[in-house]
Amino acid sequence: MPRLIQRMLIRRLLLPLCLLSGVIGVVLIASVWSFANNADRHLGADYLGFASEVVRGQQDGVYFQQAIESLVDNPEPLHQQQALERLWIIATRRGSINQYLERSALPEADYQHIRDEYRVLSRLMREAEPLLAAAPYQPERLAQLDALSTELDDSLAFIYSELQHIVFGSAAEQQRLMQRLSRWLIALATLVMVVITALMVALYQIDRQKRKVEALSVTDELTGLNNRRALLDQAGRLFAQGLRSGTPLSMALIDIDHFKQVNDDHGHPTGDRMLVAVAALLREHVRRADVVARIGGEEFCILMPHTDATGAAELCERLRRAVAEHAFHGAPGRTEGLSLTVSVGVTTSRTDTAPPDDSFAALYPRADQALYLAKQNGRNRVEVG
Ligand code: GH3
Ligand code: MG
Ligand code: MG
Repeated sequence: MPRLIQRMLIRRLLLPLCLLSGVIGVVLIASVWSFANNADRHLGADYLGFASEVVRGQQDGVYFQQAIESLVDNPEPLHQQQALERLWIIATRRGSINQYLERSALPEADYQHIRDEYRVLSRLMREAEPLLAAAPYQPERLAQLDALSTELDDSLAFIYSELQHIVFGSAAEQQRLMQRLSRWLIALATLVMVVITALMVALYQIDRQKRKVEALSVTDELTGLNNRRALLDQAGRLFAQGLRSGTPLSMALIDIDHFKQVNDDHGHPTGDRMLVAVAALLREHVRRADVVARIGGEEFCILMPHTDATGAAELCERLRRAVAEHAFHGAPGRTEGLSLTVSVGVTTSRTDTAPPDDSFAALYPRADQALYLAKQNGRNRVEVG
């Protein structure tokens, strides 16, 4: 029965919960994986640095052209030097822009046209370099240099306008992805909380059911008293304590007299109610430390720790009288009080026996013999064994 209940619980609560967690987990992992794949190229990129480099680069063409104009007006080494520096800045920035593009992990197709234009720019720069080097000595070639600088500026303008388009578009996409990622994380955290809460509720339910099952396995269903199994479990503990402390332990067996007749006269359901009432009377009269159990149909047992023979006999006599004087309810609707009596056999552990009374099995036969005597001697009485 307990196994059956446990299996039922596992099937009803744990399995659906595990399946649900599994499905949620798979969906989440798949979503996050595909999202991360898409987001990767934007999330890791430093669009701020990239954008400021692009903004700076937009001025390169203008400054170069200004330097060439000064050189054309005044072909001196100073202006030549300034123009060469500008050319060097353009080349350096090309390297850094290239790095930003590679680090952004954008698909190459998105910026292939920029690379192509950079090749044009390189060619223009290669053509400009010898003209610049010879500028102070060959002023007749300055017009060619001037025309080249205009072409170079156009090329740079195209490159940086395209770069600006890509960078700001990507930065906006990055922001959108960050927002989506935050939403995913919030959803994930909420789900984790829900699953943890559901698991805790399931564990709590299982624990509660387990306790119920455990309680049922040691409780007599009709009377709510301990059953035989629980009595034997507790007997082991009580006998061990008694032996350790050297105090006596008493055992009483209580059997309802002529109960078969009660059933015959008033019906089984009334008999059941009387059994419940007898159990309540027993519970009422024992001490907290005593253990009361129903060990058979109409048979009860009381274990009384730290109780000598006199004390046990007195308690049993009080019990016998309480049952005999109690007016039991008959069938529903019948008002007359019914009476019952019990016979009791009681015995106490001794240290002079060999082996000493150190277990339930050692005391039980003496209590049973005393009960037999009580029946033999006319019932409704207590006999000490
Ligand atoms: P004695 O005085 O010798 O003990 O006589 P008795 O009739 O009590 O003893 P016997 O062993 O002959 O019969 C016991 C009866 O207890 C028989 C059975 O119908 C009744 N009984 C056992 N368990 C239950 C139960 O759970 N409910 C009810 N209503 N009756 C029960
Ligand atoms: Mg009996
Ligand atoms: Mg009986």
